[in-house]
Amino acid sequence: MAKFIFITGGVISSLGKGIASASIGKILESRGLKVTLMKLDPYINVDPGTMNPYQHGEVYVTDDGAETDLDLGHYERFTKAVMTKFNNATTGQVYNTVISRERRGDYLGKTIQVIPHITGEIKDRIKKVAQVSQADIVLIEVGGTVGDIESLPFLEAARQFELDAGEKNVLYIHLTLVPYIKVADEIKTKPTQHSVQTLRQIGIQPDILICRTEKTLSDDVKEKISLFCNVRKEAVIESLDVESIYQVPLVFKGQILDEIILSHFGLISKPSDLKDWEKNVVERLFSPKRTVQVAVVGKYIGLQDAYKSIYEAIIHGGINNQVKVEIKKVDSEDIEKHGAQKLLDGVDAILVPGGFGCRGIEGKIKAIGFARKNKIPFLGICLGMQCAVMDFARAICGLKDANSTEFKPKAKNPVINLLSEQKNIKDMGGTMRLGAYPCKIKKNTLAARVYQKSLIFERHRHRYEFNNKFRKRLECRGVVFSGIYQKKNLVEIVELKNHPYFIAVQFHPEFKSKPDAAHPLFREFIRAAIEKNKYAGTSCLRGR
Ligand code: GLN
Repeated sequence: MAKFIFITGGVISSLGKGIASASIGKILESRGLKVTLMKLDPYINVDPGTMNPYQHGEVYVTDDGAETDLDLGHYERFTKAVMTKFNNATTGQVYNTVISRERRGDYLGKTIQVIPHITGEIKDRIKKVAQVSQADIVLIEVGGTVGDIESLPFLEAARQFELDAGEKNVLYIHLTLVPYIKVADEIKTKPTQHSVQTLRQIGIQPDILICRTEKTLSDDVKEKISLFCNVRKEAVIESLDVESIYQVPLVFKGQILDEIILSHFGLISKPSDLKDWEKNVVERLFSPKRTVQVAVVGKYIGLQDAYKSIYEAIIHGGINNQVKVEIKKVDSEDIEKHGAQKLLDGVDAILVPGGFGCRGIEGKIKAIGFARKNKIPFLGICLGMQCAVMDFARAICGLKDANSTEFKPKAKNPVINLLSEQKNIKDMGGTMRLGAYPCKIKKNTLAARVYQKSLIFERHRHRYEFNNKFRKRLECRGVVFSGIYQKKNLVEIVELKNHPYFIAVQFHPEFKSKPDAAHPLFREFIRAAIEKNKYAGTSCLRGR
C-alpha cells in the first residue's frame, strides 16, 4: 500500500509549496522509492485552461492533454513522475463529478453534502492517483493557505485520510513563513504558531514544519516553534532563501528530512544519493564559463509565473552549456512603440513564446524579423511559430497582408488558420488540440540535427495551425518545413536556411525540459547564442 504525504501552506501564499513538494519528491526518489505528486486546487474553475495568465500563471500541459497547474511542471522537472489528468484536482472538477452523479440518481435520494460526498470524492481522487501510478509514496500538495474558506473541504479530506489509510501511512507537512523583523532585529515565530493552531482546529497536527526564512533559525527559535506547535525539534526544518530552486533538495537532505519521513512510515531503503543532481545541476549552475543574454518577447512579461516553463527550460539550456543565461524580458507592445533595434540590439538570442489574442502581435513579428535579418539565434514557440510564418510571408514572399485568422478572420492571405477539427467547437474549456502528438522529422534539417531522431512526441495547446495552401510559396523562398504530424499533414516545425539557428515549433518543448536533461531545442538554442558571439567576434564575457 502507498504512503501519503499532505503538504499544506500557512501564513502567506507564494512560499514555494510546489517547489518544496517537488524537492521532497526528489530526495525520496533518490532513495530508490517510486514517488508521484498531486495538486489539489481550491478554485472553482474546472481547470486553469480558461484563466488569464495574469490570474493564474502558466497553464502546464501533460502528455495526456490535461491543462493543469504550473506546479505539475515542478513535479516533472524535479522527479521522474509522469503527470496525467489525474494529478491535478480542482473544486470545480470535484463538484462537477458529484453533481453529475446526483443528476444520474446515483445517490438514491440522499442529501448531498460537503461531508461525506465532496470529501469522499476528493479522497477517491487521491486513491486513484496512488492506484494509477503504483507509487510507493504519493505527495499531495493542497493549494491555497490554511484559513482560506475554499480550501476547507480539501483539508477536511486530508484529515479524514488518516482514518482510511492508517496513522502510519499518512504524514502531514506544513510550510510556513518565519519572518525577520528588521527594526527589531528579530525572527518572529508567532505567525507560524497561529497557522499551526488553525490547522489543528481543522483536526490536523503537522508532523513536520518547513519554515521559510531569510535568516538562519537558531536552536532557541527551533525549540520555541517545536514547543508551541507540538512538532519534534528535529522535524522543524529550516528553508533558508537560496539562489536557485534546484538547491532546495540539497537543503532538505542536509537536515535529513528524508530520514524523518521514512522513519515515520517505518520504511527502510537505500541511502539518498543526490550526487548526480549536485554535480550536473547545481555545480554547473554556479560555475558558468560565461554569460549570454536571451530576450523573451511576450505580452505577459510582468508576471514571473506566466512563462514559468520557458524560463526554466532556458536555464536548463544554460546549465547544459555551462553558461549563465541572463533573461531580458521584453514586452512586445514596447517593440511596437519603440522598434526592435532599440530593445533587442546586442542580445545573443531571441525567443518568442506562445500566447492568445492580438495584443502585442505586431511587436512579436518585428522581433522575429530582427532575429532573421541580423542572424540572431531564434526559437519560436506555438504563437511564436505562427508569428514567424507571418513574418516570412510578409517580408520574403511579398504577402504584405499575411495574417492569422485568429487576429483577422477575413484575412486575404490567411497563412495561419483554424484547425479543421476546431471549426464546430463552441465550448472554450479543454477543447484545444491538447497533449502529445507524434511528429516526423525531415532528414538533413536543423530539427534533425537538434533532435538526432526521426520521430518525436511533443505537447500541444492550440487551435490555429499553418495553412498548407501557402506551403509551396514559402518553400521556394527558403523556408523549410522540417516537422510534420503525418496523420493530418500538419506543419509542426519550420526553420530557415542560411541562418545559424532559426527554428519555430507549433508545440511546447519547454514542458519536457529538465535541469539535468535540457530539451534539445533549448540546449542548441543556448549553444547558438554562445556561438553568435564567436561569429560576431565579440566577447561573450559580460561579467556575471
Ligand atoms: N493562439 C494560438 C492558437 O490557438 C497559439 C496558442 C499558443 O501559443 N499556445 O493556435
